[in-house]
Amino acid sequence: MTPFEDKNKFKPTDSYKEWLGSKSTNQKIRGMFRGLAIGALSVGKDIGNTANWIRFPYYHHVFSDEMRGFERQIRYLKNFGEFIGLNDATNFLNTGKEINGRYFCLTFDDGLSCCYKYALPIIRDLQIPAAFYVVTNMVGKSFEPDSLVSRKVFGFRGTNTSIEFLTWDQCRASAQAGVTIGSHTKSHRRLSELTLREVRTELTASKLEIETHMGIVCEHFCAPYGLPGEDFYLKRDGQLVRETGYRSFATGSRGANKKGDSSFALKRDHLLANWDIPQLRYFFSTS
Ligand SMILES: [Zn+2]
Repeated sequence: MTPFEDKNKFKPTDSYKEWLGSKSTNQKIRGMFRGLAIGALSVGKDIGNTANWIRFPYYHHVFSDEMRGFERQIRYLKNFGEFIGLNDATNFLNTGKEINGRYFCLTFDDGLSCCYKYALPIIRDLQIPAAFYVVTNMVGKSFEPDSLVSRKVFGFRGTNTSIEFLTWDQCRASAQAGVTIGSHTKSHRRLSELTLREVRTELTASKLEIETHMGIVCEHFCAPYGLPGEDFYLKRDGQLVRETGYRSFATGSRGANKKGDSSFALKRDHLLANWDIPQLRYFFSTS
């Protein structure tokens, strides 16, 4: 327990509504318009018309009020391809062989405890492999709504609940259920704002901590924020990630990973569990 946690009297955020706080109405309206616009763009598109790729749907959170939407999305994607784990996806790309068909690899960023509580039961039932990228300094902690970590680092907007991260026990239980635990750095700082030495520390310290707590080799890394050229430098940081002993580097750039693409620049598609199916159809049929 840190002194900070001792002061934290807030209950963990349990719903997306609580996560959004008072902005939830504005956010909902914006989301609705966005959904309608993308829905219109998705007309005539069909995931089934594209193939020979691995796509990485990824989420930050699945709260109690997002479970139904999350399950609907995963079941929808299952109609189009096979879900494979991060090790298999990495191996697939590294062999450089033809990718025949459509594959999905599901990942979650930040290591929020809601993913253990609300996403894991669903993916376990559906037998979907997944990966949690954890921020090692945050594991086992929770933060008050108005803390710098909540607001600035994780974009939390709630006012009455805390932001709660997975514990190491939950990480181990998730691994037992088939979840791969990867690194999302130790502090969630933007790599582009760090010196080479600082990036190296983020990569090595988080890897070591995961390996110590999990008793596994941590082979997968995901960059905070995720935009190449803005949040990290693919050439510099990709090289460091490789040198540190990781086998993959996940980004937040959208798109399909195809034959010849590098596992050190994985493209992924960010999703919110409340999005409607046309939004998924749009993103996953666009290369
Ligand atoms: Zn993140």
